[in-house]
Amino acid sequence: MSRRISWPIVALVLVIIVAPIVGVLFTKWRTTIERGGQQPADPFRIAGNFYYVGASDVATFLITGPEGHVLIDAGYPGATDIVKQSIAQLGFKITDVKVMLNSEALHDHAGGMADLQKATGAQVWASDASAESLTSGGDEEPTGTLLYKIIIASGLQRFPPVRVDHRFKDGDTIRVGPIELTAHITPGRTKGCTTWTFPVRDGDRVLNVVDLCSLTPQPGMRLADPQQYPGIREDFEKTFSIARDLPVDIWVTSHARDFGRYRKYSKRGATADSVAPFIDRAGYLAYIDSGEANFKRVLDEQQRKK
Ligand SMILES: [Zn+2]
Repeated sequence: MSRRISWPIVALVLVIIVAPIVGVLFTKWRTTIERGGQQPADPFRIAGNFYYVGASDVATFLITGPEGHVLIDAGYPGATDIVKQSIAQLGFKITDVKVMLNSEALHDHAGGMADLQKATGAQVWASDASAESLTSGGDEEPTGTLLYKIIIASGLQRFPPVRVDHRFKDGDTIRVGPIELTAHITPGRTKGCTTWTFPVRDGDRVLNVVDLCSLTPQPGMRLADPQQYPGIREDFEKTFSIARDLPVDIWVTSHARDFGRYRKYSKRGATADSVAPFIDRAGYLAYIDSGEANFKRVLDEQQRKK
């Protein structure tokens, strides 16, 4: 005996049961993309007036001063609550942030800038190339390998557009009272990738800090192809050499795992000088070496496949 399928009932079941499940999964997926799986992390003083206020992996840095503070990077668009809470937890007022800067104008580091700009009222400074990406919300022309084109075309790199108030050139210094940060344009991962250097006074010593822009090519970037963007290979090569020449005591970068935030943070209690674990010139040079080796490996592979 065969039963006939009642299509109106099937449709009703789909609407009542399946649609909400799909809705919940979609919302979860969106939240994951917008938050990038970031968890809150303990904010802390790295040295002097230089603080970590970022998430579990994606970094945000705060440099405080009597005439206002500077914030470098903002994390994912859906994770700015972590930065806001971290600043408050350290006892600072978010509205005292007067300048916001960026390392690379991509979704995971610039995504939260528009929201934090609203919360702080700060002025945003950017390199010319980063300014294009920030103001357009990461709207890029899909070029390069198919993988790279798919990533760009999918819109996963898009983020709320940022109002860029000022542009700087390579070597310019941004000042907020006694705080002075020098911009080094270190292109490769993005055209406008900016490495920041600044001195930090910690007790009676002055330490040179480098916040190095990522040295890793974006997935699917064609390193020997001028269509990706003209001079990409030369840009990376120039960046490795600029990075090596910078004076450094403390180094950080946009992903906390890369500079060993947690490992160094955990060691602080075990040393009389809580800044000592962060003084790491050898780790900085090793990071550049491994970045360059990785770049050469990817380039070799792409040239062999040609
Ligand atoms: Zn990143």
